[in-house]
Amino acid sequence: MIGGGLAGSEAAWQIARRGIPVVLHEMRPVRATDAHRTDGLAELVCSNSFRSDDADHNAVGLLHAELRRAGSLIMASGDANQVPAGSALAVDRDGFSAAVTRALEGHPLIEIRREEIAGLPPADWDSVVVATGPLTSPALSQAILARTGEDSLAFFDAIAPIVHFDSIDMDVAWFQSRYDKVGPGGTGKDYINCPLDKAQYEAFIDALLAGDKTEFRDWEANTPYFDGCLPIEVMAERGRETLRHGPMKPMGLTNAHSPSVKPYAVVQLRQDNALGTLYNIVGFQTKLRYGAQAEIFRMIPGLEHAEFARLGGLHRNTFLNSPKLLDATLRLKAESRLRFAGQITGCEGYVESAAIGCLAGLFAVQERLGRPLTPPPATTAMGALLAHITGGHIARDHDGGGPRSFQPMNVNFGLFPPVEAPERSTDGKRLRGADKARARKLALTARARADFDAWMTAL
Ligand code: FAD
Repeated sequence: MIGGGLAGSEAAWQIARRGIPVVLHEMRPVRATDAHRTDGLAELVCSNSFRSDDADHNAVGLLHAELRRAGSLIMASGDANQVPAGSALAVDRDGFSAAVTRALEGHPLIEIRREEIAGLPPADWDSVVVATGPLTSPALSQAILARTGEDSLAFFDAIAPIVHFDSIDMDVAWFQSRYDKVGPGGTGKDYINCPLDKAQYEAFIDALLAGDKTEFRDWEANTPYFDGCLPIEVMAERGRETLRHGPMKPMGLTNAHSPSVKPYAVVQLRQDNALGTLYNIVGFQTKLRYGAQAEIFRMIPGLEHAEFARLGGLHRNTFLNSPKLLDATLRLKAESRLRFAGQITGCEGYVESAAIGCLAGLFAVQERLGRPLTPPPATTAMGALLAHITGGHIARDHDGGGPRSFQPMNVNFGLFPPVEAPERSTDGKRLRGADKARARKLALTARARADFDAWMTAL
């Protein structure tokens, strides 16, 4: 195990508790990262929250439940160090990290070595999990890059907001590719287009310029992303027309609802998952604060009632082009003794990193025992997240340029296959709005729990 963060700690635990010895290599305190402050395992580098603990109506709450079902050390340590936070699970960060460290140090089958692995591991390490996180040390990143090729590893994420398809007003927006171009696997109608007239465009630019922004941390400021994908608010600062000549250009698009009115600017959304339930706003990476994003993006005609599966961001983050590089059980296709886990695979968040660590550990165990490697069904939170990472995601880029389309993701219901949900309440009334959404979430989580339970039992 390389890396004793959220993912590496969970993976080591899952392996050792099934009777297989593990050596865990953690570079702290010998070598520091820019964000960690202690030498504890599973240190939380920022917030102390594992987010919602509602397993019935929230995708990350469901992930908590699945992790608990799998005997997770991260969840047990979180539960034991809980602090009050309403329906969220928040933890005492020092107590949490100390509990994880104690459990791993005290396990007779786990040996912890405090050292940096400064390159690919020696050839005689036959089963390795790399869980070195968003701040993987430069020597190891460079070795991975050399082994996997130029476009395989990103050093920052440029995240555009992602919208639930069913919250887009298709009476205003329409499907069309620019110049009706048919790209590989495309239809000429691959994008959703939202039209803006001049007044709407000007108001949108004003809002971007005035919007509340987050600052970069010192160590992020020199991250070399500025060339390829500027935040939209920075583009707007460079000139009021810059966006209209960039991601919001109206050329090659005809408003299907009123063909005679030429839009002054167009916002495009591109399909983000194979299911077609999620669409990302093309070229809209941003450092606007979350609250400001939701408000400003709902000014776009067609997105007035947009529900966001994820808001935009820009961070330093080391992650693989996993859909291309990893197989369905997280092994590097080019060198199957190396398995990856945690945020380096392209998930986002403490709980998601622990969940992918849990899966990597379970897969490593199955492999060592010569048993079949069956991923969890995509109807479960872990399975849906794994499918996003290893290939369920659509990695198409019809317009060329811009950031690569595989970007890190938190778990969310948009990643799950659709489910049959009740249309009516128990007293026979047709469900609408929030009640309908709650019924759908309940159906998704009930199916997930049954499927996860069956998968764990079979394992
Ligand atoms: P980590 O927890 O970072 O663990 C990786 C470990 O590998 C580290 O201990 C590191 O020292 C070690 N390591 C690295 N290279 C080597 C090497 N070559 N040899 C040996 N050891 C090595 N997520 C949230 O849910 N909430 C937040 O508030 C949040 N804030 C974040 C803030 C920042 C600044 C960053 C960078 C990320 C944040 N994240 C947050 C995202 C993410 O969930 C966490 O980074 C999470 O810790 C990732 O888990 P991990 O196990 O993949 O990596």
